[in-house]
Amino acid sequence: MFSKSFTPLIDPFDRRVRDLRISITDRCNFRCTYCMPEEGLKWLERTDILSFEEIARLARIFVEGFDFDGIRLTGGEPTVRADLPVLVAKLSGLIVPSTNKPVDLAMTTNGSSLRLIAERLKTAGLNRLNISLDSLDPQIFQAMTRRNHLDKVLDGINAAIEAGFDPVKINIVMIRGMNDHEIVDFASFGRDKGVQPRFIEFMPLDADGAWSMDKVVPANEIVERINDVYPLEPVVHGPEPAQRFTYKDGMGEIGVIPSVTKPFCGNCDRVRLTAEGKFMTCLFAIDEFDLRKILRSGGSDQELIEQIETAVGTKWAGHNIGKVNFIRPPRSMSQIGG
Ligand code: SAM
Ligand code: SF4
Repeated sequence: MFSKSFTPLIDPFDRRVRDLRISITDRCNFRCTYCMPEEGLKWLERTDILSFEEIARLARIFVEGFDFDGIRLTGGEPTVRADLPVLVAKLSGLIVPSTNKPVDLAMTTNGSSLRLIAERLKTAGLNRLNISLDSLDPQIFQAMTRRNHLDKVLDGINAAIEAGFDPVKINIVMIRGMNDHEIVDFASFGRDKGVQPRFIEFMPLDADGAWSMDKVVPANEIVERINDVYPLEPVVHGPEPAQRFTYKDGMGEIGVIPSVTKPFCGNCDRVRLTAEGKFMTCLFAIDEFDLRKILRSGGSDQELIEQIETAVGTKWAGHNIGKVNFIRPPRSMSQIGG
């Protein structure tokens, strides 16, 4: 219906916005310390969560109406949502008007269910997978995720590789004193398995409120420690937040995401949709725009488009983590969608 007549979404700082993160559930089968509380988080009612049809309608508006070229499914844990391949099939057919190519559809998962569904996700049109894995040591894995599922996640990574996902990226949240002694182990793991580690700086989005600056392992330190063992060289790349490096011996690549020590806000092209249909222009945004209300009151595509444009008009220049004027958002990571 939008054919070629899309309108690029430009924010007040002249950044082109074209990447949508969709949280499809607030629920999760893990309780990672840096994300969720051990217990007591109040789940959304099932009827409050957007249906697949509602998600697909919004996704179509972003892709066909605003020429978005990337969508990432996240959560909570996206694989706890029943019939996930059905949603993937609905989204993977969306065509980006300016390129006439399918949207780049990705997902971030804790990997624990991939043995069961990786192949179906691939067949349904999922292009890329990031799998979270914070430790290769079963005890530390359990301490960080509050679950004893290291073997399942490792098997999930194998299932993703066998299903043909390439590259498989491994998300590692680095926390000082917890898993920072494993930096080089993760590099070796990535080289052996042909997967790409992406080391993420710990952000103040943990439900327990235990974040502090001294728990952040700076991306520079991570690169230096790997470079001492496996020499690296930087990759010149586009607006993505990861700083990428390849091994000089050609054995693959790593990424570091310096969200805290070197925020990439100046290049940010992302916006987010929460599981209950709130539209947010930053992980740290305080303002939320209710798209579900428009969807469920019989609103038109035009009304949705106008609300999205209004929201993007409020996108700020960047967050201020670590500075005195930083305001911690009311939602934790699993309630926004990382
Ligand atoms: N459940 C899925 C998973 O864990 O991959 C998807 C949702 S999770 C919120 C998305 C990503 O955010 C994961 O890679 C997770 O490690 C990361 N994350 C969660 N809390 C974080 C925090 N406080 N700081 C940095 N990254 C965080
Ligand atoms: Fe669940 Fe992912 Fe949050 Fe861990 S990081 S608690 S797996 S949503």
